[in-house]
Amino acid sequence: MERLAKTDIKYLHGVGPKRAELLAKQLDIHSYYDLLYYFPFRYVDKSKIHKICEITGDMPYIQLKGRFVSFTVNGEGARRRLNALFSDGTGLIDVVWFNRVKQIQETYTTGTEYVIFGKPTLFNNRYSISHPEVDVYKPESVVQGFRGVYNITETLRNRSFSSRTIQQLEMNLIGALGRVEETLPQYIVERQQLMPVRDALVNVHIPDSVEKLQRAQYRLKFEELFYLQLNILKYTKQRSMSIAGFRFTKVGECFNRFYREVLPFPLTEAQKRVIREIRTDMGSGKQMNRLLQGDVGSGKTLVALMTMLLAVDNGFQACIMAPTEILATQHYHTISELAVKIGVRVELLTGSTRKKDRENIHQGLLSGDVKILVGTHAVIEDTVVFKSLGMAVIDEQHRFGVAQRAKMWRKNAVPPHVLVMTATPIPRTLAMTVYGDLDVSVIDELPPGRKPVQTVLRYDTHRQSVYRFVGEQLKLGRQVYFVYPLIQESEKLDLRNLEEGYEIISDIFRDYRVCMVHGKMKPDEKDYQMKIFAENKAQIMVATTVIEVGVNVPNASVMVIENAERFGLSQLHQLRGRVGRGADQAFCILMSNVKINRDTRHRLEVMTQTTDGFIVAEEDLKLRGPGDMEGTQQSGIAFDLRIANVAKDGAILQQARDLAMEILDADPTLSQQQNQLLNRHLQFLYRRQINWSLIS
Ligand code: ADP
Ligand code: MG
Repeated sequence: MERLAKTDIKYLHGVGPKRAELLAKQLDIHSYYDLLYYFPFRYVDKSKIHKICEITGDMPYIQLKGRFVSFTVNGEGARRRLNALFSDGTGLIDVVWFNRVKQIQETYTTGTEYVIFGKPTLFNNRYSISHPEVDVYKPESVVQGFRGVYNITETLRNRSFSSRTIQQLEMNLIGALGRVEETLPQYIVERQQLMPVRDALVNVHIPDSVEKLQRAQYRLKFEELFYLQLNILKYTKQRSMSIAGFRFTKVGECFNRFYREVLPFPLTEAQKRVIREIRTDMGSGKQMNRLLQGDVGSGKTLVALMTMLLAVDNGFQACIMAPTEILATQHYHTISELAVKIGVRVELLTGSTRKKDRENIHQGLLSGDVKILVGTHAVIEDTVVFKSLGMAVIDEQHRFGVAQRAKMWRKNAVPPHVLVMTATPIPRTLAMTVYGDLDVSVIDELPPGRKPVQTVLRYDTHRQSVYRFVGEQLKLGRQVYFVYPLIQESEKLDLRNLEEGYEIISDIFRDYRVCMVHGKMKPDEKDYQMKIFAENKAQIMVATTVIEVGVNVPNASVMVIENAERFGLSQLHQLRGRVGRGADQAFCILMSNVKINRDTRHRLEVMTQTTDGFIVAEEDLKLRGPGDMEGTQQSGIAFDLRIANVAKDGAILQQARDLAMEILDADPTLSQQQNQLLNRHLQFLYRRQINWSLIS
């Protein structure tokens, strides 16, 4: 592979310097290796030829065999197009080209027998195919069967570079390939019954049969996921072997008094279990790196606080970092109220902490007087120095980058124990990839007495009855959120929607006070609006997603989400978590346009069927793919999987991880003879990547 990676793509037959530059710029293909590992994203069956008279709506890409009957150029300038009629004896179909009109007219002739390949669409009551692939008919080319379709860019398309061009280049490359060195040790190939790498690469581009294609795909997916896991796990192992953590041996005064005298309610079983897991970690002599997942409202803050008290009991300081000022302030209030009862000094540090207070806090941290620091990004600034930080909690991890997690590590000569919390439940398969270097604890139980939020989907046509329902709830003394989407590109428009919504709602619910919050507001104004809602001086809050994290108003039990189709499922779930915090039955009404398509409706219906964040997250992953999931973008782990899909290939991922773990358990540094190939290939694969797992 190293050899292939060193061979410039320009030397391949059919490429040359010009095309090489295009391939590099457009597809990041620089070498033979890059091209070989540029896989089709789907396959089409080219063994069958359809008849024009059999075409029905909604067909995929199909092949037709026949002759062009006529060519006509229509339109002027940018709207110029070439229309052709194509006949196979059973019917006629329109074929249209919107560019390269002259060139195409000169290439194809009436009378010659062609095979065309494309997707028929219904237009003006006639089927038509635009920009089909056209080949002179040769009986042998039809038998070819499965063929890969490659992603290409618009720019490439405009330079007459198609999926077929790539296909042709792949064939040229495979023809010139020669021997290909195995990328996995023989014992793995045998044990997993994998197709040899060369066969797999050939079959993934030019499949012999469906069976071989599947085996090839399996082999390549396994290889990809295996090395991904091996990389993460190897560094995690090295880290845990080379970095000692503080050993927290004591459960002391603070923790015990808090548990006996202060704790306002009994812990749930899940909370107890997680605290036990954390205590085991902290007593092990190794540095803890744990991810705590728990649905909105599952009581993570309390777990974090008790963990921090353990640090205090053992003579250390602790800190908790939250993504927004509102959230940090809220944590501060919760935590200081409880901690003051056992005499533990807690301070809040954010971007808006006044200079004098700031200096005071810095002092207290240096002297060790401040035991628990709550704050935003401000706590990782270099000016913040602890006497001895033993425990760091990061809330809502998905809002922070890995770099910030790493910065937390460096706050102390010996890195503190790190607990990362998230309310965006991450499906297991994704967690294994994104947070593969963290141990995972889950709070899978809500505190008693919570009623699940009732969620319904309503269309614009039901608006009046939705308002009626909201009116009834207001009369019962409840408070209500109206949430509007905010999408960056059209911020102005969104703001107008929000303001219009505010006008309409103020007008309908005249007997109540309506407040409004959005991201463009000054912090003072925002805080004021939040405050009057929290104090029930305003009964309705009109807001954008800024309320997604942080607001905790137990009396607010109804949420209406406008244009729900514009939100991701996980985001809807987060929003919904703002209601149902009190004793009353809570409701979430998803409003959407009647004209949404089937997929969107299905997506929204998931919300009406479950309140389980993990199911929502699984569905989100299936429907949108990992690239879109909140958290993955910033996770620092490259998500450029070439063939595997963590949403769909969970089972392969699990096998790959198990095997990687087993190998590393027996040979942590991969220095045994039989594992040398693994080591070498790992270095090759990750040659260009910064290794975050070393520091995070
Ligand atoms: P999240 O996991 O979303 O951060 P919080 O820690 O904010 O959840 O807890 C949500 C609410 O549940 C808080 O008001 C908290 O006081 C309460 N709570 C936490 N644990 C329990 C428990 N064991 N029993 C009852 N209420 C609890
Ligand atoms: Mg929380």
